[in-house]
Amino acid sequence: MIPILDLSRQTAALLPQIEALWREITTSGSFVLGRHGRALEAEIAALSGTRFALGVASGTDALHLVLRALGLGPGDEVITTPFSFIATAEAISYCGATPVFVDIDPATFNIDPARIEERITPRTRAVLPVHLFGQAADLEPILAVAEPHGLAVVEDCAQAIGTLYRGQPVGSFGVAGCLSFYPTKNLGAFGDGGMVVTSNPELAHRIASLRVHGSHERYYHDEVGYCSRLDELQAAVLRVKLPHLEQWNLRRAQIADRYDALLADLPLITPARAAYSTHTFHQYTVRTDARERVLALLREWQIGSGVYYPVPLHLQKAYAHLGYRPGDLPNAEKVAAEVFSLPMYPELDDEQIDQVAAALAGATAAVKV
Ligand SMILES: *Cc1c(COP(=O)(O)O)cnc(C)c1O
Repeated sequence: MIPILDLSRQTAALLPQIEALWREITTSGSFVLGRHGRALEAEIAALSGTRFALGVASGTDALHLVLRALGLGPGDEVITTPFSFIATAEAISYCGATPVFVDIDPATFNIDPARIEERITPRTRAVLPVHLFGQAADLEPILAVAEPHGLAVVEDCAQAIGTLYRGQPVGSFGVAGCLSFYPTKNLGAFGDGGMVVTSNPELAHRIASLRVHGSHERYYHDEVGYCSRLDELQAAVLRVKLPHLEQWNLRRAQIADRYDALLADLPLITPARAAYSTHTFHQYTVRTDARERVLALLREWQIGSGVYYPVPLHLQKAYAHLGYRPGDLPNAEKVAAEVFSLPMYPELDDEQIDQVAAALAGATAAVKV
C-alpha cells in the first residue's frame, strides 16, 4: 500500500531534536510569541525576501488578518481564483467583502491574468492569486493589471513555500504573502500555524496588533482584534524542519521528473511547467476525463490518490448566494472534474514511484481512456 502522504519517516527522523526543544520550552514557561517564534519569523522573512514575517494561528488567519489590515469590509470586492482550498475565499468573506471568481488557465491551474481586468469594478480593492500545488501564478501581468487600478495584490503562498517566480521568492511580490504550516504542507507543524510575510512596515505593524487583540501594549487596545498567534511548540517544530526544506523541495521535483517520464506515454495530462516559476510540487496533479474509473482501480490496488479539488469555489454550497451557475467558469469546472493527485512527499522512494506509475498504466489501459 502506498499512501498519498506519509509523514512518519520525516517525523521519526527529527523527533529527538524536537523533543529536546519541547522539554526546554515546557520548562521555560514561554509558550506563545516567544524566542522560537521570533527566530522563525526572522528565518521565514529571509527565505521569503521580505522585511517582516508575523506568526499567526493558521494560513486561513494569515489571509484574513492581511485583508482586515488592508481595511476591507462590506461592499468591497476581491478578485480571486475559483480553483483553490476554500480558505482563500473564506478570508475575503470573514471581512464582509465579496469574492469575485475569475477563471483559471487550465494548464497551470492558476488564475488567468488576462481575465482579471474585465471583472474589475469601482468596488474592487484587491487581487488574491493562489500559487496552487507549488507553482507560482503569473505575477507580472497580475501586478500590471492591479497597479493602475490601485488594487492590492495578496499572495496565497500556503502551498508554495520556497517557490521562486522569475528567480525571486513568492510572497515578496504583492503587498503580503500568506503561508500555512498545516501538517500536510511542504513545511508542516504538528498542528495549525501560519505566517504573513511583507515588506510593508505599516501592514506589519497593524497585523502585529490584530493578532493579539488589537494591542501593541498589553491591556491597551486600539481596536477590536483577534487571538491568532503561533505557539512556541509549533515554532520549534518548524525551526527543526526548516533547514531541510530546500532538500525536501528538490526531492519533490525529482519525484515529479520521474513521474513525468514514466507517465509520458499514458493518456493523462501531466503537470505543465511554467517558464516563469519553479515548482515545489505540494501536489503532483494529473488529468483524465475517466477519473472516477481510474481512481476506483487505484483504490482497489491500494495506491493512494486525492482529488484537489472536486468542486470549484463558485459552485460550493457555501457560495450559492453569489449566484454563479455551472458553465460560468468553464476551465475551473473542467479541471475540477478531471484532476487527481498522486503520492508526493520527499520520503517516497523510486520503487514506490515506479509502482504508482505501473498502477496508473494498468488503470488507464483497463478503462481505455
Ligand atoms: C492550506 C491552505 C490554506 C489555509 O491554511 P490553513 O493553515 O489550513 O488555515 C489557504 N490556502 C490554500 C491554497 C491552502 O492550501
